Amino acid sequence: MERPRILVVGGGFAGVECARRLERRLTPGEADIAIVAPFSYELYLPLLPQVAAGVLTPQSVAVSLRRMLRRTRIIPGGAIGVDPQAKVCVIRKITDQVVDEYYDYLVLAPGSVTRTFDIPGLTDHARGMKTLAEAAYVRDHVISQLDLADAATDRDERISRLQFVVVGGGYAGTETAACLQRVTSSAVKRYPRLNPNLIKWHLVDIAPKLMPELGDKLGKDALEILRRRGIQVSLGVSVARVDDDTVTFTDGRVLPCRTLIWTAGVAASPLIATMDAETVRGRLATTADMRVPQFDGVFALGDAAAVPDLAKGGGAVCPPTAQHAQRQGKTAADNVAAALRGQTMRPYYHKDLGLVVDLGGADAVSKPLGVELKAWRPRAWPAATT
Ligand SMILES: Cc1cc2nc3c(=O)[nH]c(=O)nc-3n(C[C@H](O)[C@H](O)[C@H](O)COP(=O)(O)OP(=O)(O)OC[C@H]3O[C@@H](n4cnc5c(N)ncnc54)[C@H](O)[C@@H]3O)c2cc1C
Repeated sequence: MERPRILVVGGGFAGVECARRLERRLTPGEADIAIVAPFSYELYLPLLPQVAAGVLTPQSVAVSLRRMLRRTRIIPGGAIGVDPQAKVCVIRKITDQVVDEYYDYLVLAPGSVTRTFDIPGLTDHARGMKTLAEAAYVRDHVISQLDLADAATDRDERISRLQFVVVGGGYAGTETAACLQRVTSSAVKRYPRLNPNLIKWHLVDIAPKLMPELGDKLGKDALEILRRRGIQVSLGVSVARVDDDTVTFTDGRVLPCRTLIWTAGVAASPLIATMDAETVRGRLATTADMRVPQFDGVFALGDAAAVPDLAKGGGAVCPPTAQHAQRQGKTAADNVAAALRGQTMRPYYHKDLGLVVDLGGADAVSKPLGVELKAWRPRAWPAATT
């Protein structure tokens, strides 16, 4: 008799953890486990700002799927549609070949994409911080702006190349601005002809606070650390338009600038919109045990899913964090195994463990288990040389 087929979509925090746990929970005779993933590695997204800053190498944040999965069949490609009635997932392999993969249980964990808005010039000029390629690009781009500023004979060009804007005051944007500012303030020592005071980092967010999930006090501490280091933080402000060499803010300021890093929020993977199912702000709505109620045998988790946050209650859904995605992966695997064996599934419950925000060098704020911590080392700033 054929073994039941379990197909996991997505090789990120949620998908890999689920497949690993399934390998442990089920004997090889109980099920065939497959994972469809466009890359051969799991990417540790929270460490991308450190890759952009050159503190970590790209290889150190990309862990080979084959190192972590022993008997899961890996299908290199992306899911492009699901027919839940026929129980088929349509996959485009990385060769562009389109294949049908039949399943008995489908675990949807395709994550999220950067959320953009209809702002003139944004898609042409903004850079994201969501893939390894983007992190590496941003690093090269920022360093090349120093080189180009050094080589520029025109003062206006030099000024525009030394101003950098990061949009998004969540942990991704805050860490990116903080870590990259460290890079430029250290690298500028090797450019004796550049005036370090011309280098300006701007962090903007339409929200009135930085990282609201940290709470009022730590959010303010982070803001103070950034401002003392010279990062210009503008809250209640966003970007109105972007050109080759200017960024216009919604408060009317026009900044000469050639670098815009966009981290203002995430949206569920476009795969979710192809499914005729209930969503919560674009994320697939699930029950507490992570089933998609409309479809038999389908589970969803991670950034792509709106999983009820039972620890918070009041109808809240889990925020899109690695912390939740990984733990949901484990519970989803247990529930798939339970469904397969005709046993009872359990609801996902996890009390947030808090957050650590790396502000570059020795600076950081964190809230492990609700305890507020801050580390900040004052430094002398280089004086103007030209
Ligand atoms: C810069 C940055 C910093 C962050 N910092 C933190 C932090 O400090 N703490 C924290 O908890 N969280 C942090 N996050 C958020 C965290 O990384 C995400 O919440 C987490 O990665 C979600 O896990 P996931 O498995 O749902 O999605 P992902 O980890 O994004 O994995 C999804 C996977 O699915 C693949 N995929 C996409 N579409 C398809 C498809 N159609 N078919 C097959 N596969 C597909 C993707 O390539 C990817 O490998 C950060 C995110 C970013 C971008």
